[in-house]
Amino acid sequence: MTRASKSKVTPSTTNSIRIPRRNGLQTPFHIVQILSWVLVIFFTVMFYGVENLTLPYIISIALGVVIGLILVVLVFLLFLGAHKDPALEVCLPHIYDKTRVVPEFDRTQRPHVIMDNYCCLCEVEVKLGTKHCRLCNKCIEGYDHHCKWLNNCVGSKNYKLFIFAVGVAVVGILIMTAVSVFAFISTYVPIETTPASGAWWMYEYKLECRLLIVFKFCLELTGIYLWIPLLWYNYTSPR
Ligand SMILES: [Zn+2]
Ligand SMILES: [Zn+2]
Repeated sequence: MTRASKSKVTPSTTNSIRIPRRNGLQTPFHIVQILSWVLVIFFTVMFYGVENLTLPYIISIALGVVIGLILVVLVFLLFLGAHKDPALEVCLPHIYDKTRVVPEFDRTQRPHVIMDNYCCLCEVEVKLGTKHCRLCNKCIEGYDHHCKWLNNCVGSKNYKLFIFAVGVAVVGILIMTAVSVFAFISTYVPIETTPASGAWWMYEYKLECRLLIVFKFCLELTGIYLWIPLLWYNYTSPR
């Protein structure tokens, strides 16, 4: 290990000095993270307020319980995934030391942040597979990626939580997509017909409800055909 590669980085006067983020629940929140909260609320309201009312009584009760459990588990996992600090253990004293600031990386001084298993910004020896996250401004053990939905890095400390949350989200989206199709067909009844199930207002505002169902259905398809393959690509691609 050369002396030069372990040398400190002098904070540049042109670069800003930043404090490392502790976890994804620390402000400022990312716009994608706020979007995930809005989506969870929208899906919950749409499912219980509109779509579930179109289902036969027994099925609506059963699916209401299943989706309720999925939502509770998903929100809990998202909270844990965002709350968990995936930083390398030796970086923790730096992160919780409010007097210490980390300089922004200056490429003119060194080609890489981590060289010879040493991070010049955190000033610590790091393990293999560690990466210094530019957004969190700290070293992440077993770095996988920086998740904008969690506004937190995914590393070896919260990787299982992340994969479990994705699995739960996939099951929830698949069930909701099937319910959306049923609800769309079910609400296509003549306005004069008395519905066998569902709330009166849903049939009175049939067009608005159907537009919302189509919008939700498009979001679900986006999740299935875009978001999940992207996550899978990230999961299988070399890190
Ligand atoms: Zn670092
Ligand atoms: Zn990060």
